[in-house]
Amino acid sequence: MAPPKGQKATGKRSEYQDKDKPSQIRFSNITAAKAVADAIRTSLGPRGMDKMIQAANGDVTITNDGATILKEMQVLHPAAKMLVEVSKAQDVEAGDGTTSVTVLAGSLLDSSSKLLSKGMHPTTISESFQKASLKAVEILETMVTPLELSDRESLLKSASTSLNSKVVSQNSNILSPIAVDAVLKVINPATADNVDLKDIKIVKKLGGTVEDTELIDGLVFNQKLSSSGGPSKIEKAKIGLIQFCVSAPKTDMENQVIVSDYTQMDRVLKEERNYILNIIKQVKKAGCTVLLIQKSILRDAVSDLALHFLAKMKIMVVKDIEREDIEFVCKTLGCRPIASLDHFIPENMGTADLVEEVAVGTDKIVKITGIANPGKTVTVLIRGSNKLVLEEADRSLHDALCVIRCLVKKKALIAGGGAPEIELSLRLMEFSNTLAGIEQYCFRAFAEALEVIPYTLAENAGLNPIATVTELRNRHAKGEITAGINVRKGAITNILEENVVQPLLVSTSAISLAAECTRCILKIDDMVNTTR
Ligand code: ADP
Ligand code: MG
Repeated sequence: MAPPKGQKATGKRSEYQDKDKPSQIRFSNITAAKAVADAIRTSLGPRGMDKMIQAANGDVTITNDGATILKEMQVLHPAAKMLVEVSKAQDVEAGDGTTSVTVLAGSLLDSSSKLLSKGMHPTTISESFQKASLKAVEILETMVTPLELSDRESLLKSASTSLNSKVVSQNSNILSPIAVDAVLKVINPATADNVDLKDIKIVKKLGGTVEDTELIDGLVFNQKLSSSGGPSKIEKAKIGLIQFCVSAPKTDMENQVIVSDYTQMDRVLKEERNYILNIIKQVKKAGCTVLLIQKSILRDAVSDLALHFLAKMKIMVVKDIEREDIEFVCKTLGCRPIASLDHFIPENMGTADLVEEVAVGTDKIVKITGIANPGKTVTVLIRGSNKLVLEEADRSLHDALCVIRCLVKKKALIAGGGAPEIELSLRLMEFSNTLAGIEQYCFRAFAEALEVIPYTLAENAGLNPIATVTELRNRHAKGEITAGINVRKGAITNILEENVVQPLLVSTSAISLAAECTRCILKIDDMVNTTR
């Protein structure tokens, strides 16, 4: 408001500005966050588009996964970063639904900005939204179909639903059974209530197509054998995993050994030879036929000389096993890592029927199968014709694995294709009639905001969003709880017949996280920059 003529613009005016500031900040935050949500809206659903992201170093990523898009995007505005965080949170909590949660948060922010401009207080809106989200979760829980983990069919359907929207969707007939079997193998279906995805090792190998992806009951190393001239296939193998080096010891960093004549030189070489031979003889004595060697940062984990001797003694060698893989390898083989030569005894080794080097594409990998005391682990070997597809196949499989994990955590399914959101919206509207005053208003805004999911699904599928959403609303009002958007036929049908089902946990967590994020942004009334 302009100050009246002649009045000094300082005193009163600055007060006015200050009063205005919180709401300006709030609106600017909302606008920034909504921009992020809008950017990934087009990726939602099976007909959603993919994004190509180029990093500063030239790396290109093609993805449909909300969390990945946001992670790679350079978001500067602090409030917009909250949306990045919310999709990350959904990724941790449920693994799937990362686009949905961001789109929902954007829509809730949109509704709240309308409520704010009507003059409602942010705290009131925030509190009502929290109540509404709790009520929404409560209602969703009444709409579920319970699930048994023995019901393979339903597990497969939910894995395919999550893969439907990915770049590799045409391969979902291969990837869904792999995801389901992998999870079922590492848990005890009768008692499990969580899955440790670390027990499922993903090995990516360029070459072939996604069709060639396979589930391997055993262990796969991404590298080829280290020894040349040694055996490339061993049956009834005894496998030892060592963490010490099979190479000549080095002096300390600041010391040097100076050799000044040939006899001394000979002695050094001889000592080195003896040192290495001594280790290898003990390895052989213990009956080991396959030696796995952890990567070392201090010196070569295994020297060329040692490789030569090992090959002569018909011991197969795989070197450069990463530190973080040790636990998985031990669990799989039922062996223990051996940190010093004294502990190289048969009890610490594992046994397997077959260890062999196999060619995949232009490269080679080492496969261990028929393990005697296998732990509950599996390995998935993902193949892809180029790096971009390979990486996206990995991310998509991760989503599918997470979907199955959600179902193990909470054994309940709901329909997909916008059906739960519309039903929820209707029931929340109904419920809001029992409320009074501002709360009712906020509940209605919340309910309306949920319609963004079917709206966007329809829009991305090339349907008329308004006509689709209104028809969907009508059919749900008539009691067709499972009517959803059938993107393939471009019509509204019973979505359960299309086998589009998803875990309850994905939807509940998306709604609660989106509501929480909205409340957070609403409650910010100032931004302070520090020079720290
Ligand atoms: P997110 O990253 O949130 O999982 P997606 O791109 O995977 O995003 O899209 C998920 C949405 O797509 C869900 O609402 C799901 O119900 C819907 N969906 C998946 N498959 C189908 C299908 N065949 N028909 C209709 N809707 C589908
Ligand atoms: Mg998904």
